[in-house]
Amino acid sequence: MKNDNAKLKTEEKKRNVLKRSFLLFALFVLVIVSGLAITRSVFATHGPGPTPSDQSCTICPDNDKDGYRAYCDTSHVFDKSFSCGYPPPDCNDADPWSHSYGSKDIASVKVEYSPGYVAKTQTDKKFTPDSKKLNPTLGDFLVTATFKAKKCGMTAGTPALVPMKIFYTTKDSSGNELSFYLISATPDNRTIGYLAKVSDLVYQGLISTSQDPRFLPAIEPYIASVAANRPVELKFVGPDIGPNKDTPKYQPLPMTNCAQTYGSGRHKVVYMRSYDPGTSLQGYIALANTANRSFNVIEPFKKYQNEFSHYIDLKLQSLPGVSLALDIKQLKYDANMVRKSSSCGARGSAYVLFDKGDNSSPRASGLRNGVIIMDGEFIEEEEYAVDIGPILVHEAGHAFAGLMDEYVYDDPAPLFKDYLLKMAARGNNCTTDPSKYYSYGGFMYGLKLTPPVVNFCSLDDLSPDDPYRPLLNRPSYNSLMMGHDRKNENRFNVVSCGYILKTIKKGGTAKSYFPECAAMPGIIPVGE
Ligand SMILES: [Zn+2]
Repeated sequence: MKNDNAKLKTEEKKRNVLKRSFLLFALFVLVIVSGLAITRSVFATHGPGPTPSDQSCTICPDNDKDGYRAYCDTSHVFDKSFSCGYPPPDCNDADPWSHSYGSKDIASVKVEYSPGYVAKTQTDKKFTPDSKKLNPTLGDFLVTATFKAKKCGMTAGTPALVPMKIFYTTKDSSGNELSFYLISATPDNRTIGYLAKVSDLVYQGLISTSQDPRFLPAIEPYIASVAANRPVELKFVGPDIGPNKDTPKYQPLPMTNCAQTYGSGRHKVVYMRSYDPGTSLQGYIALANTANRSFNVIEPFKKYQNEFSHYIDLKLQSLPGVSLALDIKQLKYDANMVRKSSSCGARGSAYVLFDKGDNSSPRASGLRNGVIIMDGEFIEEEEYAVDIGPILVHEAGHAFAGLMDEYVYDDPAPLFKDYLLKMAARGNNCTTDPSKYYSYGGFMYGLKLTPPVVNFCSLDDLSPDDPYRPLLNRPSYNSLMMGHDRKNENRFNVVSCGYILKTIKKGGTAKSYFPECAAMPGIIPVGE
């Protein structure tokens, strides 16, 4: 037993020694493995994969799936088999994007109107686009992305081109993301879908919405977002690398629905549209541009076009109260409602609302009320379509300068008649006293006719005995203010021109401008 005991003890000792050696061995392996692990993550190097003769190297990963495994070092000190990575440091497989820029590497983005659009606008449209008020509907964008740092895998410098998809995004009223894939290219417009290098970390791309026929029909939800103060952003998405998805970069845009389209003068003319499923955005923009051009061909607006700036309010308005009743209260109410709902502020000089069809006709919301309503159905009729410009400028004569119609109303309501007489008494193109209101410096700039030859203006004189119906005289036989009776006369007379200039210049008397108007080509000559 004793012997047996001694034997047992010896065996136990042996076992303990074995145990100890095993523990030592395990520790040794652990050191190697952890050493490997550290080596691998810190010193993963880019290089060819394992060779068939060195199967142990299959442990070296290819995290970015670019076909290259981490550098395999077979002369490692810890054992004779392998290690993944040894100087030069391999940043490749620790970071799948170590050789390329992705959207998650973007530090900052600057979005502005493209130099081409800015130059063309300054020349053709006489204003400088404001990049603090963006809207891609009317102008192309230049995007400048600055990346965070040069990637460690970029041994030969940063790349000349970076692939990048750019989307126009917003959320609808339910919070769902809407996304429109924008056609972007390098600033030289040659390589689509890429940003081009400007300097080591700075890259640029051009977004040409004007060249993209898909754009206008797709952007009503974005206009609605801007109108509802929901953010509209550019979303940048770089390429995925294998299973690794890039993280989109969102860049909020300082959006406006009040898109400046022409001029930079102090008198703001704002074009608006009310809800009408039949009128597309393209059709509306075309209408607004036609209207804008008419101001630039009809005197005296033409001569003073630098005093005006024109804006297209992209918001789709819903103005249920707007009516055509020739009721002064209603017209004022309509005018205020139009102003207040404008995306361009309420202080414009004139608002032109392209209204849904209601079988009425274009009209001004009173004299000097600043609001013009162009009826949709009227505009669509072919016989009026060619006349949209002159008709609009006629309405501007009322709304902007307070001019009266130089044709006779069929049967004006008594209150409306009172209103007109009151306006005439303040001095206007229609007057009971031509000698006083059409003369300046001893010279008559308007016709003064007396019965039986008369030249009625707004109100006729069917009952000469009735003191309540005085003769209102008009300054010329024909003019743009004669509206539908004008027989294609698209010129104002000298007196009307004087009132328009008084309003444009915000000073002086209308009369003081008669000489200038009389000398202006494009104005009806005195006496005609
Ligand atoms: Zn009129």
